[in-house]
Amino acid sequence: MPLAEQMDGAPAEFRDGAAETFESTDPASGAVVGVFPVQDADAVRAVVERARTAATTWAGLGFDGRRQRLAAYRGYLARRMHELADLVHRENGKPHADAILEITLAVDHLAWAGAHARKVLGPRRVSPGLLAANHAAWLEYQPLGVVGVIGPWNYPVFTPMGSIAYALAAGNAVVVKPSEHTPAVGTWLADAWRAAVPDAADAFCVVTGLGETGAALCRAGVGKLAFTGSASTGRTVMAACAETLTPVLMELGGKDAMIVDDDADVAAAADAAVWGAMSNAGQTCIGIERVYATERVYDAFVAEVTEKVRALRPGSDDGAAYGPMTMASQTDVVRRHLDDAVAAGGRVAAGGTVEGRMVAPTVLLDVPETSAAVCEETFGPTLTITKVRDAEEALERANANPHGLAGAVFSRSKARAMDLARRMRSGMTSVNSVLTFASVPALPFGGVGESGFGRIHGEDGLREFTRAKAITRQRVPLPVNLMSFGRPAAAADALARIMGLVHGRHR
Ligand code: NDP
Repeated sequence: MPLAEQMDGAPAEFRDGAAETFESTDPASGAVVGVFPVQDADAVRAVVERARTAATTWAGLGFDGRRQRLAAYRGYLARRMHELADLVHRENGKPHADAILEITLAVDHLAWAGAHARKVLGPRRVSPGLLAANHAAWLEYQPLGVVGVIGPWNYPVFTPMGSIAYALAAGNAVVVKPSEHTPAVGTWLADAWRAAVPDAADAFCVVTGLGETGAALCRAGVGKLAFTGSASTGRTVMAACAETLTPVLMELGGKDAMIVDDDADVAAAADAAVWGAMSNAGQTCIGIERVYATERVYDAFVAEVTEKVRALRPGSDDGAAYGPMTMASQTDVVRRHLDDAVAAGGRVAAGGTVEGRMVAPTVLLDVPETSAAVCEETFGPTLTITKVRDAEEALERANANPHGLAGAVFSRSKARAMDLARRMRSGMTSVNSVLTFASVPALPFGGVGESGFGRIHGEDGLREFTRAKAITRQRVPLPVNLMSFGRPAAAADALARIMGLVHGRHR
């Protein structure tokens, strides 16, 4: 977006040049993509208040009114896919085609959330049970008001949209603080909303800045804070939100494992492992970082993977498989993990070089389980492959990591694969593919352990941005009211007799 346009939309003090600003840059060339205001606590609070006013109007539109407007928004995104993909490419570095895929997923989630909100959240009558048989009982899920969304830079459209789409569909307004590395994408998304949904423009607002702006959003009186990022920042966010008992959703990092069993289709597993590990330069929270292959398939699997990986090349041209690392500091993490793995006796089967922001697709073998490359999130285009006795040992090792975001199982036996998938300590598992669960809008997305808690996507994702509300309505009064000081003395004995008849036979 041209700087002049950003200035137009920015607060007056920023346009006058009085406020602090920051730049986002193209990770491949270093060219400035945009200049943005660093919004302080007062500015953030003002935006949240604006959104709070809009939230009342937005909630008042009801499920159908919101569904209609969410459809207009997704239509707008779908018509401008290439424009947005180009911006994602420039600011994040990923290939244009990958950006199109990312936007497609986000649009699909918008459609699902809008279409299913009424069914999942709308008022429904539930059985009042024996004790309140003379009452009607209602359950409904009400919006929280304003939801704050703090997102990362690796999937700057798809990841925040997992919260934005579901929070909006549930009747909340949202205020999004994009990562300082991708503010242009975040601002584009909010501007697109204003253009597509002018009668509820403030239901989706953006604030820009560095970490302090995110911290200010945590303290700005939002109804919930949906955070996606690292576990360490997640802890800081939780601490800030604890000050005001603001509930949080934590979508944190992963160290996802793939299990390749004796009977796996080795070529398919290798293809999926390479995509899962290397696409988006490995900067995928649900990317495959570790593979545990059984003795029977290990050699064939390693051969397939290394051959495929050697055909890949990072770059920012059309032929590149993936782009540069978005953040310069992440290359240091990757380098440290590589050095540590090699120092611990690991072998580099492919790649192993880091030049500037370009990391060669790297396959590491024989890396000890205690090494950083196996224990910690690398977030780069690297993969460790470890030989194991059988799938049980693979599962044990996969589950030993404190993260528990996602994973994959490759096996031709449906029953065996499903059993392994169920026992994998993760929020999501794909069988005979990688990352597929993220493209199924009906499925919840989220992790366990160090990977966080709470769910976006699906029915759980809609409920995440609501509070359950219980209502009973007395239909007819009973001759004897047990919850009255006027109840007869014999009422308790009668109740005990009835309970004895109904429940007493169970031993
Ligand atoms: P960070 O934790 O560094 O940052 C995440 C967001 O938090 C950014 O917008 C950042 O803003 C903001 N932030 C930083 N400090 C504070 C603070 N004190 N208070 C409030 N907000 C703050 O993560 P990265 O951006 O490096 O993202 C990569 C991580 O995200 C990886 O661990 C990855 O696995 C995880 N991730 C998880 C996903 C999931 O769904 N589970 C999906 C995608 C990524 P700023 O950038 O301006 O500093």
